[in-house]
Amino acid sequence: MATHKHQIVVIGGGTGGIMIAAQLLRARKGLDVAIIEPSEYHYYQPAWTLVGAGLMSKQATIKKEKKVMPKKATWIKDYVETIDPDAMTVTLRSGDTVEYEYLIVTPGLEINLDLIEGLKDTMGKNGVCSNYIDPEYTWEVLKNFQGGTALFTQPATPIKCPGAPQKIMYLTADHFKRHGLKDKSTVVFATPGTVIFGTEPFKTELNRYVHEVYDIPHRFGYKLVKVDGKNKEAHYERLPLPEGRTDYVHNDDTNRAGFKGYYMEDGKRVEFEEKNEPLDNLPAGARFVIKFDMMHLAPPQMAPAWFQKTKLANQDGPDKGWMAVHKNTLQSRFYKNVFGAGDVTDLPTARTGAAIRKQAPVLVKNLLDVMDGKDAAYEGYNGYSSCPLVVAHNKMLLAEFKYNNIRSSDPLLSKFFDTGKASYPMWLLKRYGLPFLYWHAMLKGYNF
Ligand SMILES: Cc1cc2nc3c(=O)[nH]c(=O)nc-3n(C[C@H](O)[C@H](O)[C@H](O)COP(=O)(O)OP(=O)(O)OC[C@H]3O[C@@H](n4cnc5c(N)ncnc54)[C@H](O)[C@@H]3O)c2cc1C
Repeated sequence: MATHKHQIVVIGGGTGGIMIAAQLLRARKGLDVAIIEPSEYHYYQPAWTLVGAGLMSKQATIKKEKKVMPKKATWIKDYVETIDPDAMTVTLRSGDTVEYEYLIVTPGLEINLDLIEGLKDTMGKNGVCSNYIDPEYTWEVLKNFQGGTALFTQPATPIKCPGAPQKIMYLTADHFKRHGLKDKSTVVFATPGTVIFGTEPFKTELNRYVHEVYDIPHRFGYKLVKVDGKNKEAHYERLPLPEGRTDYVHNDDTNRAGFKGYYMEDGKRVEFEEKNEPLDNLPAGARFVIKFDMMHLAPPQMAPAWFQKTKLANQDGPDKGWMAVHKNTLQSRFYKNVFGAGDVTDLPTARTGAAIRKQAPVLVKNLLDVMDGKDAAYEGYNGYSSCPLVVAHNKMLLAEFKYNNIRSSDPLLSKFFDTGKASYPMWLLKRYGLPFLYWHAMLKGYNF
C-alpha cells in the first residue's frame, strides 16, 4: 500500500472536478493537482434527456476520461473510501493513502433504488425507465409505446437537475402528438411538490405546456412509495397540503381519458378513474395506486454513502449527509483547507452542471487566496443555476435563477432572445451549443 502526496487533491473527475481543476491550472502555473476518479469514461449527463427521446445517441454523450483530464493534472484511477480531514488524508479502495494540503470535493451524488420498495427489481424492465440510469431504455419504451397511461414521477429526495423528470415528459407528449398516439394516451405528472416550477415567468410558460399544449394532468402532493413493475402499478402516499393551501390546483376541464387505479377503503378495493373521481378527497397519509403502461421516474438520490460518514458532511438537520459548504464562498464550513462544489454539496439551489459553471471560478479564487495565507472572503456565488427545459423536439426555454428562486437570466442572451418563452433558437442552444461549450470550453477551464 502506497502513500501519494499532492498539494491539491480533487475527488471526482466529473463535471465539477474537471472544470475546477482545469481552471486552477490555468489560474496559476506549477500547481500540483491530482484528480481521483475511478471511471474510464466521462459523461455529459444533460444530453441524456435527448437520448431518452431518441434525439441524440448515447455515444455522443461519452468521452474517455483521459481525454478530459487536464494535461498537467495527475490522474489517480481509484475510488475514495474515506476522508480524514484532521489528518488531511484520503483513503482509496486499493488501500493507498493520498495526503493533501488542500482538498476539493466533487464526487457528485448517489442513486439509491432501495429507498422505494420494489424499484430495484423493476428498473429497466416492464416499461419502468429513467433517463438518470439508462436513457437508451427510455427511448426503447417510448418507441414501442402503443397507447395507455404514461406516468412521469419523481421521488421525495433531492435530485440532480430537478427539471429533468418533466423534460422527458414534454418530449414524450410531443412524440405522442407526432406519432398519432395522443388520443390513445394519457400523460400523467405526479410529484410530491406543490408547483411545476418555482420561478416566473418559467412557471407560467410551463403551465401553458402542461395544460394547453399537451393536456397533462399534473398531480401534486403524491409521494411514490412502491413500484410493482410486473403489475404495472405505482403506489403513492398522499402528502398533507402545504400550510396556507386549501386545495391543489388541477386541470380537470379536459377531453382526455382519465388515468385509472385503486385504493383501499374499509378493507375493500375501490377502483377509480381519476376524471370521474379525483383523489383530492383522500386524507393525508392515504395510499393509492396508479396503473400505468409506461413509467419514467427520477430515482431517489442522496450524498454518496461513504461521504456521509466523513466529518465534512452535515451531521444532522435537513441537509444531513450532504457536504456543508459556505453558500457564497464554497469553503467547507468545518475545514478551511477544504472546498466543495456540485451535487454533493448542501447549497440551497438546483444541482446542475450550469450551477457548477458559476461555482468554479469562485472556488478557485477562494482556494488560491487561502493558499496565499488569506481568508476565503470572496462571496461571489449567488446560487445561480439553470435548467434548459426542453418542451418539444424543437423548442426549449432557459430557466436561469439564483438563491430564493429569483430569476437571473443572462443579460447578453436576453438581449437577443426571450429565454422565458420556449423557442427554436433556444432548442439549438440545447442540442448543439451547450454540448459544444461543455466539451470545448467548460472542461478546458475557460471561465465565461
Ligand atoms: C438526466 C439528467 C439530465 C440533466 N440535465 C442537466 C441540464 O440540462 N443542465 C445541467 O446543467 N445539468 C443537468 N444535469 C445535472 C448535471 O449532470 C450534474 O448536476 C453534474 O454533472 C454534477 O457534477 P458533479 O461534478 O457534482 O458530479 P458528476 O458530474 O456526477 O461527477 C462525479 C464524479 O465523481 C466520480 N466518483 C464517484 N464516486 C467516487 C469515489 N468514491 N471516488 C472518486 N470519484 C468518485 C464519478 O465517477 C464521477 O465522475 C442532468 C443530469 C441528469 C442525470
